Amino acid sequence: MEYFITEQQKTIKSLARRIAEERILPVRAELDEKEEFPWTIMKDLADADMFRVFVPEQYEGLGGGCFELCLVAEELSRVCSGIAVSYAATALGSFTLMDYGSEAQKRKFLPAIAAGAKLAAFALTEPTAGSDAGAIKTTAEKVEGGYLLNGTKQFITNGGEAEIYTVIALTDKSKGARGASSFLVEKGTPGFSFGKKEKKMGIRSSATRELVFRNCLIPEENIISKPGMGFIMTMKLLDRSRPGVAAQAVGVAQGALEAAVEYTRQRIQFGHPLISLPVVQDILADMAIHVEAARALVYAAARTVDSGAKDFTESSAMAKVFASDVAMKVTTDAVQVCGGAGYMRDYPVEKMMRDAKITQIYEGSNQVLRNAISIELRKRKAKTA
Ligand SMILES: Cc1cc2nc3c(=O)[nH]c(=O)nc-3n(C[C@H](O)[C@H](O)[C@H](O)COP(=O)(O)OP(=O)(O)OC[C@H]3O[C@@H](n4cnc5c(N)ncnc54)[C@H](O)[C@@H]3O)c2cc1C
Repeated sequence: MEYFITEQQKTIKSLARRIAEERILPVRAELDEKEEFPWTIMKDLADADMFRVFVPEQYEGLGGGCFELCLVAEELSRVCSGIAVSYAATALGSFTLMDYGSEAQKRKFLPAIAAGAKLAAFALTEPTAGSDAGAIKTTAEKVEGGYLLNGTKQFITNGGEAEIYTVIALTDKSKGARGASSFLVEKGTPGFSFGKKEKKMGIRSSATRELVFRNCLIPEENIISKPGMGFIMTMKLLDRSRPGVAAQAVGVAQGALEAAVEYTRQRIQFGHPLISLPVVQDILADMAIHVEAARALVYAAARTVDSGAKDFTESSAMAKVFASDVAMKVTTDAVQVCGGAGYMRDYPVEKMMRDAKITQIYEGSNQVLRNAISIELRKRKAKTA
């Protein structure tokens, strides 16, 4: 399928593929098995300027948008989703700063992010606030010289490894979500520590950890935008970042498809390669159709984000839901056509099936996003009625 990508986008895509094949492929199983954070690969990505891709040029980035980020996420995820999400979480942790931060904040933090010298993370989820993100309890009390943070964030990607955290906390408890604000919190700030490190089903080389704030004093200049804007900025951020999760899903599905074709070509049963059986051909063809349809939707959603459109909630949600459901189905089918071997850790498809699952859960579960899409549909009906 022709997606009419520019020469620069082709270069970014092929560089990401090269890193994935030359550097990630040889270590992905070991990192997954040991649940080890991919620091060497993060360094490779930094050396190849991959963290510059999503940062504006005036802050030492390459000025790419959501589309370029998706190309990198897809290529990395084709080989290892755990590593892809460790990379993409830095973009997630930077977008609020990029879109709403002050000039001084951007000058202070973005060049180090662009260089890959510092990873970032985004912290919204709490033990009692997952899908119901408006139920967060972490507070940021205004005190002399800044804000005092108290609370616990849960399931934070890059937790413990990142240096820069965008943290959502309540500056006005009485207003609930409308009293939430966004803060930049640096690792090492007194009162900021790391709690439980999660042991996960998939994306096991990525770090998922609790953040604990106990009377953690944040300087006044680290609030992003104004108090009370935190929830609105977060909803916008997630609309912008969801195509990245969808690209991660397309990548893992593509990887599983390629592995399944390769295996069924080589595996001989009843005197012939499995791929010569019509039933296997049908499964592979359906896998390919779904991967391509997901890719087309993801690229369209990413281009919508980059177009400057005001509202892209629906297109981003559709891309994320569709691509993640495709990833789950395609990786499961890949295990099926590889039979017993596919179920074994010696082959990549069992990892891909484990890795695919998270794309249906994070950055808005698919159930919650289907609700959001149906709300948009109802609004539209009301307008035309
Ligand atoms: C590996 C991993 C990494 C993560 N990284 C981050 C991160 O970097 N930063 C961050 O802030 N968060 C992160 N999260 C949190 C993630 O976004 C949440 O897990 C997700 O939003 C779902 O919330 P929950 O786990 O509390 O599930 P719950 O909200 O408890 O939902 C449980 C189930 O109920 C369904 N459900 C809930 N409400 C509704 C509804 N209204 N309608 C229909 N169904 C509903 C859900 O779809 C789901 O199936 C991460 C999570 C994981 C597992």
